[in-house]
Amino acid sequence: MHTRHQSRCSALPHHYIFPLFSKCSLTTHLHVLSAMHESNRLRRLGLVVDSEYRALICVVCGCALSCSGCQVTSHLWEKHQVPKDARTSITSYIHSLRLLDLSRLPPRPNGSPAHTNLKTKRGYACKLCDYLTASEERIGRHLS
Ligand SMILES: [Zn+2]
Ligand SMILES: [Zn+2]
Repeated sequence: MHTRHQSRCSALPHHYIFPLFSKCSLTTHLHVLSAMHESNRLRRLGLVVDSEYRALICVVCGCALSCSGCQVTSHLWEKHQVPKDARTSITSYIHSLRLLDLSRLPPRPNGSPAHTNLKTKRGYACKLCDYLTASEERIGRHLS
């Protein structure tokens, strides 16, 4: 009687653990698949994530984008006429990546090699310090 009870007990956890494990790995699998799907979608929209700077870059424009609010979908529509159905749920996906907003992105260090996905621009260099800018207005303010 005692032995039979024991064997039933040892059979139970096995029975319960197995479906639990397979359910977990399925969820993880689906999660990974949907993340891959979303990053492929970003690429098709001409967007890439720079993982070093945690920045979202529009490869077509060669510039980093502001990720706050609906700015990315606005950019896709206004600059590239990406239709609405291609832009659905992209905002929530981008927000889930917790990227740095454009306003908080640090400038790349002086002398950095050209970035693969960013346009290079001619600009101004201050002769007295390391200040660099592509904006005539900003160099004017810097020198005044
Ligand atoms: Zn663009
Ligand atoms: Zn200066």
